[in-house]
Amino acid sequence: MKCAISQDIKAGADLIRNGELVAFATETVYGLGANALNPEAVAQIFEVKRRPYFDPLIVHISNVNQLEDLTLGLSEQARKLADHFWPGPLTLVLPKKKVIPDLVTAGLESVAIRIPAHPVARQLLEISGLPIAAPSANKFGCLSPTQAKHVEEQFGTEIKLILDGGPCAVGVESTVIQCISDLPVLLRPGGVSLEEIESCIGQVRLAEIEDHAETNSPLSPGMLPRHYAPQTRLFIVSNLDEVPKTGTNGLLSLYPIEETCLKECHFSAQEILSPTGDLKLAAGKFFTALRNLDAAGVDNIVALRMPEKGLGRTINNRLERAAAS
Ligand code: AMP
Ligand code: MG
Repeated sequence: MKCAISQDIKAGADLIRNGELVAFATETVYGLGANALNPEAVAQIFEVKRRPYFDPLIVHISNVNQLEDLTLGLSEQARKLADHFWPGPLTLVLPKKKVIPDLVTAGLESVAIRIPAHPVARQLLEISGLPIAAPSANKFGCLSPTQAKHVEEQFGTEIKLILDGGPCAVGVESTVIQCISDLPVLLRPGGVSLEEIESCIGQVRLAEIEDHAETNSPLSPGMLPRHYAPQTRLFIVSNLDEVPKTGTNGLLSLYPIEETCLKECHFSAQEILSPTGDLKLAAGKFFTALRNLDAAGVDNIVALRMPEKGLGRTINNRLERAAAS
């Protein structure tokens, strides 16, 4: 059966309360949600996404009062971050209470929590009255969905409902910060920039993705080197001299490049993220641009590295993992 795409939040809340899956809009990317307190419901997320069980999920809540039931409390820094960035694209990893099933946290003693800002996500959380575990609504390792139709392409026959909230404004996943000890650790760059975090709480430690992926340290088990990947081979370059000379190329860049360079570098498709260099706008368009290039029939996608600041850092992080083999 084909899934419904609607804004019927009540139908979504009923499905969540019945232990079923619902895809829904958030400001970051579309999520695939289930009642976070029901292990059978959560198990379906892993099955449908083909996500490995060692990769813990983010639990979405609608207000800070729910933290008391789910976590052992917030450090001073965690509280500052929550006050400043919630609702919004920031996830806090906090010590968990037993009520959160092990399946949600991959057996860790901590749980990742976020209060989203998108009205569809917020209403779903409020009307269902439940915390909702939700990873991005895409098959494991693939490009993240930023429009309802992206979710439909992958899960159209496997879930009953997609709650449509239009294109996601932030367009990249949340920033994940572990707040277990006195020194917060940035586990994943995302929709809130490192600069914004540090202006709120001072310096944070940066976790190296390779650290936890390769040494299997429990710091953040789901952060695999390869992720967010298109079907087409992706190269990241710092300048156009490095563009592959064989086959046809599709260009992903922040700014437009000159017509003569387009021809010389065999670019037959291009996606410009922001001609004014606005990295927030660029992040908002990023996954759709990669999707368009993936569908353009080119041999290679060539991404010009973004400036390593603000959300440029987040885009570079996603590009590196999309290009990893
Ligand atoms: P996603 O749901 O795909 O946006 O990914 C969420 C990511 O957050 C996971 O892949 C983990 O790397 C990270 N995460 C979630 N829960 C925890 C946790 N308890 N401790 C550390 N990292 C976590
Ligand atoms: Mg994901």
